[in-house]
Amino acid sequence: MIEHSVMKSPLRFDILTIFPGMLSSYLDESMIKRAKAQKLLDIRVHDLRAWAKDKHRKVDDRPFGGGAGMLMKVGPIYAALKELKALKSSKKNRPYVILLSPRGTRFTQRVAERLVKHKQIVFICGRYEGIDQRVTDHLVDEEMSVGDYVLTGGELPAMTILDAVARLVPGVVGKEASIVEESHSADGFIEHPHYTRPEVFSPKKGVKWEVPSVLLSGDHKKIAEWRAKHAKRAKK
Ligand code: SAM
Repeated sequence: MIEHSVMKSPLRFDILTIFPGMLSSYLDESMIKRAKAQKLLDIRVHDLRAWAKDKHRKVDDRPFGGGAGMLMKVGPIYAALKELKALKSSKKNRPYVILLSPRGTRFTQRVAERLVKHKQIVFICGRYEGIDQRVTDHLVDEEMSVGDYVLTGGELPAMTILDAVARLVPGVVGKEASIVEESHSADGFIEHPHYTRPEVFSPKKGVKWEVPSVLLSGDHKKIAEWRAKHAKRAKK
């Protein structure tokens, strides 16, 4: 079982976004909602515009040198991180700052296991054409990508990473064994298939989709062997 460094205090996430409303429905349902209520997770969503100085609360501007689209400005992000005591110049125990970016480290289960050891993680969600490079150069610990494709913003990647990290916090997923035996919990391993009732499903006359008989046998040794045989090596 992986343990994050301070068991008594919740694992804290701060999410900087210009669309806080996008995240609330996800964070206020199911497992994450329960984990927040049980004080296993402390999740704070911040509207980046709160740190924009001008009267229009502008967080983006045109790129120097021209080109399509707008970029997120360094100023509001700097001010937000300063308030969260997450600047690199801050004292020890500062939060770990992640910028969501298609250029970043590819997020995997191994990365989730590394991240759960932090006490506090800040996500910066990009929008538009991306973010002023000075954010990457001076303000973040790591750029992180959820895959080789381009999304419209960093909010979904932040939720993906948060969810995968959160379920490694002891107590967040009900039965801890279910985490230990899951896909990717050991290197290159995909969990065996699962079946539930009914034993036979008939989508149309003459067609039967049956559950493998060994799973109905009650023979735990044989079931374990079947599961081991049907667990797969993950594609690299
Ligand atoms: N112009 C950028 C490029 O070509 O790399 C793409 C910007 S994208 C439209 C806007 C924001 O979405 C990014 O700044 C990043 O925060 C987020 N984003 C998009 N795809 C992502 C991915 N695969 N992983 C993580 N974040 C992503």
